[in-house]
Amino acid sequence: MGLGPVWKLRAASAAVEAIAAPVPPAPALAPPPPAPVQMPPAGAVAPVVAAAAPQSAMDWDELAIAVAACRQCRLCEARKQAVLGVGDRAADWLFVGEGPGAEEDQRGEPFVGQAGKLLDNMLAAIGLKRGEHVYIANAVKCRPPENRTPAPEETSACRPYLQRQIELIKPKLIVALGRPAAQTLLQAEVKIAAARGRLHDHHGIPLVVTYHPAYLLRTPLDKAKAWEDLCFMRRTMVAQKAG
Ligand code: URA
Ligand code: SF4
Repeated sequence: MGLGPVWKLRAASAAVEAIAAPVPPAPALAPPPPAPVQMPPAGAVAPVVAAAAPQSAMDWDELAIAVAACRQCRLCEARKQAVLGVGDRAADWLFVGEGPGAEEDQRGEPFVGQAGKLLDNMLAAIGLKRGEHVYIANAVKCRPPENRTPAPEETSACRPYLQRQIELIKPKLIVALGRPAAQTLLQAEVKIAAARGRLHDHHGIPLVVTYHPAYLLRTPLDKAKAWEDLCFMRRTMVAQKAG
């Protein structure tokens, strides 16, 4: 074996360690919580138009209002608040998770718990940072009770909101984190082990699939594969920007 592969292996394992490294308690760096949704004045014409607008025609403000008040599926019943997403609304990168957990439901921002810390480390491993050229959303905007996997009728009900986010952001690359996100976006049965490492398509936008950070916390041996996926994403983005 030459020097090259050894160096590569070392570099990869260092990066995997970096993903695994404990996270400094740095909420100081975290972006401020999303601004409260501005409700239009009562009696104005705008709310009627907003309420009537299909998701496919909504702007960001209308989307935020519609999601906050949404009762399209039963996940509305136990949520504290709906979690639309966070980050750069003109991002090159769109990361899509499954659904808010307890902390996200409490704080109104995606991926702020343990899985979120790992996601932040994964982003850092390829030179990315939450909010800078990155937008983070979920397949469902309301917390499934007991953090269960969202049911197909729940992801279907919520999909138009994610679709509108994608249309507004126009990302260069979509990263599906875990199976529910991948299935919602690709509208097909997906096995992560088979789908990762390949370029998929979401209405003309390249899409890659990788493990969900919560899965990686439970299955740290697969972090090496997640690192390969991160490298694949980075290469794909470079190619996208060049082309
Ligand atoms: N897991 C997710 O899929 N999304 C979050 O926002 C938090 C945890
Ligand atoms: Fe509406 Fe989505 Fe929340 Fe269901 S999960 S109530 S569809 S915002």
